Parts: sequence; structure tokens; C-alpha cells
Amino acid sequence: MTPTELPKFVVPGEYLGAAEEFVPGRGTYEASGRIFASVTGRPTIDARDRTVRVDAANGVPTLNEGDVVYARVNELKSAMAICTIVAAAPAGRGIPGTPEGTVHISKAKDGFTESLADEFAVGDILLAKVLQSRPSIKLTTAPADLGVISARCQVCHGLLVPSGRELVCPRCGHREHRKRAEGAAPFSPRTSS
Ligand SMILES: [Zn+2]
Repeated sequence: MTPTELPKFVVPGEYLGAAEEFVPGRGTYEASGRIFASVTGRPTIDARDRTVRVDAANGVPTLNEGDVVYARVNELKSAMAICTIVAAAPAGRGIPGTPEGTVHISKAKDGFTESLADEFAVGDILLAKVLQSRPSIKLTTAPADLGVISARCQVCHGLLVPSGRELVCPRCGHREHRKRAEGAAPFSPRTSS
């Protein structure tokens, strides 16, 4: 079968192909056996499984529930950490528009968190999972393998390294606590900076 010609750019409602020929993927919907774009963007067909999808343009985040992302903490409020989503993990696929996401205090770790400042600091890089992608992006770092993967010393901005259950600054010896991601995403190897 020859590849079907698709337009380079589609808008919501634009016809993409017949449901008997393609599998509707992300950014599409099916109606009466026909597949249409549900977002504005570039359509592609995955030749392996005949999935047609539309990658959203205009900086609209293409994140879905369950995606794991790298996020940088920009601001700590009493009930939430406000982050910029930098990339999808683990491949580091860029996220268009660097959208904002939030970690609610109840989703920072398992159990009760008295203060977000005990778990995160501005500038930390988090490994976080998307709980909700629309209309706003909500993240969790509660599972053991999620949390802070890179942090800097609040005193001298040196890169912190793990030391038991805490983190320590190799430059000035300052010790800090974070809700760390265990295992899969180790801190950067000890280097002089
Ligand atoms: Zn330090």
C-alpha cells in the first residue's frame, strides 16, 4: 500500500483518513468511521502500526496523563511548587512552549508534607509524573522513583551530592534535605564545579 498523502498542517476537524485504514492516535478523533484532527499541527502516520496522529503546534503541550517529565522549580508557594516543564523523560524529548506545571503539597511525597520548602528548593530539577494535562498541568513526585534529581546548595550554589538520607555540598559542607528520586535517576556524579 502506498503511503497516503497527508497535508503538512491541519486544523481541528480536518479529515485525515478512514478508520479502516488507520488507527486514530494522539491529536485525532474518530467519527462515523472517519478520522479527523482534534488539534492544530502536523499530521504523521506511524508505518509500523498505521497510527495517524497530529503533533500540536503553537506551543500547545502534547503531554498526557502518566507522562514522566523533567521540571525545574521556579517558585514555592505555601500549597504548591510552580515548575517549568523542560522535557519529557527519559529521552529528553523537548516540550514545545516550556509549559508550566504545578506540584501540590499533597503530591510532593507519600504522607503529610508540612512545608514544601523541606522537600524542594527553587532551581531544583524534578523528575515528575503528569497527573493531569488539561486545562492545567498537575504533577506528582510522590512515588519513590520520582522527586528531585538535581539540586544546588542554598549557601554557595554548589551542586549537592547524596550523603545518606540527605544531600551535602562538597564545596561548603552545607547539608540539605530534599524529596529525592530514588534509583532510576541518580544525582550527577561527584564533580568539582
Ligand atoms: Zn555550598
